[in-house]
Amino acid sequence: MPLICLGLEGTAHSFGAGIVTSEGDILANEISTYLPITGGIHPREAAQHHSAVASQVLQSALLKAGISGEELDVIAFSQGPGLGPCLRTTAVVARALSTLFDIPLVGVNHCLAHVEIGRLLTGTKDPITLYVSGGNTIVSAFADKRYRVFGETIDIPIGNALDMFGREAGLQHPGGPKVEVLARKGKKLVELPYIVKGMDLSFSGLVTAAIRKLKEEKEQLEDVCFSLQEYAFSMLVEVTERAIAHTQKKELLLTGGVAQNKRLQEMLGEVAKDQEVAFFTVPKEVAGDNGAMIAWTGILLYKYGKIIDVEKSLVDPKWRLEAVEIPWSME
Ligand code: AMP
Ligand code: MG
Repeated sequence: MPLICLGLEGTAHSFGAGIVTSEGDILANEISTYLPITGGIHPREAAQHHSAVASQVLQSALLKAGISGEELDVIAFSQGPGLGPCLRTTAVVARALSTLFDIPLVGVNHCLAHVEIGRLLTGTKDPITLYVSGGNTIVSAFADKRYRVFGETIDIPIGNALDMFGREAGLQHPGGPKVEVLARKGKKLVELPYIVKGMDLSFSGLVTAAIRKLKEEKEQLEDVCFSLQEYAFSMLVEVTERAIAHTQKKELLLTGGVAQNKRLQEMLGEVAKDQEVAFFTVPKEVAGDNGAMIAWTGILLYKYGKIIDVEKSLVDPKWRLEAVEIPWSME
């Protein structure tokens, strides 16, 4: 009998419950996303959203999967990194279920889950991964028992940058997908700062400059969206390309919410061709934050005995990807 794992995701804007088997079948992947009426994500409001929707999301996941709580073998939850209040709310739900049904609890690193769900569903074995989302921007690859971080943002993540710009431009949150659509109509490349420091990236000055071009220099919104994407994605591509050259990996995996962007996919596809690596993008249903990725990674960890005591299941808002020791091999 395959194992069945419930994965709870709640690091930021979304509360998700996914149910996945040890054979990699996704039986359910329910999600409720908090949408701020004005401004960005307020951590406490997002956490209140999660506690308000948790039981409903959970019930609909169990219903979809056609199982009862007692039939679960493992309960996994996003233990970090993320927004403290959101992490704590999600952890309370996971601990309660684990205690109630006497089911082992597994704490999952959110960044690791984005990589592992990508590996599962694209069939990649040992890729360079570009993980781009609202909360993270990380180029990583496996080496000596850990996913090493080769490059990352030194200020705001790319998804956050697109959302911030979107907000200033009067677009509804999340701005990323709207910027993508508008960018397709842009024709003029407006000059913006291109900031790569070693293998790290900075998007904060880029966003400020883009807002200035729009508001003070009265450039067309479509042109600024186009330029913002061209600059930001070229920066991501540059760092990713150098990581490929350095590690000599043969696969490139794009994951995270921003992975849905067609222009980014196109630019990475070109680099992959030049570098002679196979390019894969995570399916869009699991690109953004979701419970299934937590459930699948929970299964992997559980198989290697990585169970945690409820008393020791504190969340870690700053938990880094390379802090996790990976017990499985990349075969
Ligand atoms: P996540 O944090 O992984 O759930 O992803 C959410 C982020 O992905 C938000 O910042 C969105 O703006 C961004 N996003 C979603 N779709 C797109 C897209 N098509 N282009 C750019 N960004 C996107
Ligand atoms: Mg994420």
